Amino acid sequence: MPSPATNLRVLFVRHPEAEPTDDCFSVESAPVGEITDGEALVRVSHLSVDPAQRIWMNPGGAYEVSARPGAPMLSLGVGEAVFSRCAAYAVGDHVSGMLGWQQYAVIDAAARRAAPVPSGVSGPAALGVFGMNGQTAYWGLLDVGRPVPGETVLVSAAAGATGSLVGQLARIAGAGRVVGLAGSAEKRAWLLDELGFDAALDYRAVDLTERLAQACPNGIDVYFDNVGGPLLDSALARLNVRGRIVLCGAVSAYNDNAWGAGPAQYRQLIRKRARMEGFIVMDYAHRYAEALPRLRAWEAAGRLRHREDVVDGLENAPQALRRLLNGDHFGKLVVAV
Ligand code: NDP
Repeated sequence: MPSPATNLRVLFVRHPEAEPTDDCFSVESAPVGEITDGEALVRVSHLSVDPAQRIWMNPGGAYEVSARPGAPMLSLGVGEAVFSRCAAYAVGDHVSGMLGWQQYAVIDAAARRAAPVPSGVSGPAALGVFGMNGQTAYWGLLDVGRPVPGETVLVSAAAGATGSLVGQLARIAGAGRVVGLAGSAEKRAWLLDELGFDAALDYRAVDLTERLAQACPNGIDVYFDNVGGPLLDSALARLNVRGRIVLCGAVSAYNDNAWGAGPAQYRQLIRKRARMEGFIVMDYAHRYAEALPRLRAWEAAGRLRHREDVVDGLENAPQALRRLLNGDHFGKLVVAV
């Protein structure tokens, strides 16, 4: 094996109390171990920065995934096979999977944890618009939210990796009005000027209730919820009869280790005969191949725009995760290893 001398890794070492501080991780170099039959060695090029990583760091993790102290921090990533002892991956193949915060990852063909990167797709796009975020937006909005032409769709974290795609998919699905919630004037301008949202609101505004009423004069038919917390109550209060709330994530609370209380406005679901449904994108893994050509066609036609925010250097991954949780990024945040 043309073995790389060392493998730089960022290990998860400690459960965070709130924000994932630098002392939750340690940076170290280790030799790449022997590659055995059925395995391949992947040189990691880009790592996905995802809110779920914060909850994987809690004791017990989330979604049956949990960061293990002493192991490289869990992370989706893309890279190129540089050595192989299995038929499933050839040298030069570009793959995407749970590669971890490290320069080199050993993948096991039997576990089938790495999938081919679609041809002609860049690493960052393979993680975002054509990867987990694209699939999340597609299935969450179209299969769980099910917007009907003419309806009003509201999305939170609207300038993030998932939310920015949700708003555009809502437009493609024929939504009559697409409204986004985002934390900075620059992000809101991007939603309005480039992504075709009809309105973009500052969710921190003291008069959010009135602004929401103005932005959604016919009420809200679908709320794609990425953040949970008080915004979920605001959306519930303006939900239409037979409205749908897609519970995609609750990033506003990921740095709190306690679960906190649920929405005070939950009884609106009764009055409005509405549906609020959680979903996990992995449940749709067997249908990713159905969504991908559609996402690619819309992107090629200029109807699905995306933006990637790239942080350089593996050792900056902890800081990138903090930036993500604080909203200090545009679109899909990735680390270039
Ligand atoms: P984003 O790129 O959207 O980044 C997170 C965003 O959340 C930030 O940009 C920030 O935007 C916003 N945010 C942070 N704190 C708050 C707050 N207190 N109130 C309102 N907004 C806040 O990340 P992703 O697109 O990767 O993920 C979005 C959500 O989708 C997450 O909750 C994630 O867990 C979930 N998810 C769920 C999946 C599933 O299968 N169910 C799969 C993938 C993601 P701003 O500047 O506007 O504040």
